[in-house]
Amino acid sequence: MRHITKELLKDCSTPVSFRFSMSCSECGKEWNSTPVIFSKAGIVPETEGKKVIFDALYQREKETALDKALEEASNAFNQCPICRRPVCDYCFLICDDLDLCAACATRLQEPGEPVMQYA
Ligand SMILES: [Zn+2]
Ligand SMILES: [Zn+2]
Repeated sequence: MRHITKELLKDCSTPVSFRFSMSCSECGKEWNSTPVIFSKAGIVPETEGKKVIFDALYQREKETALDKALEEASNAFNQCPICRRPVCDYCFLICDDLDLCAACATRLQEPGEPVMQYA
């Protein structure tokens, strides 16, 4: 089962948009979530009260964006059942018995085809 936790995602959010990144434990390739624009981006709060509200709204939208990014990451990454590292589709092999990351497949001498191949 694919399982990506929040701790693996790096927060690359700015005051106007929410974005998270993660890199493959095997090849180091960086993956970025689809950026989500903050609903109040570019709007300056007119009062102190509005500022507090905007800040709270920002936190809430960030949580939602994080959940979405986690879902996206679960599709872009695979967790190796042996070493438990999250690896990208290029570094994850479909093997006969158990699908493994490239490093484990080599170590365990299991032949397999990557989920995705470099063109
Ligand atoms: Zn990779
Ligand atoms: Zn592995």
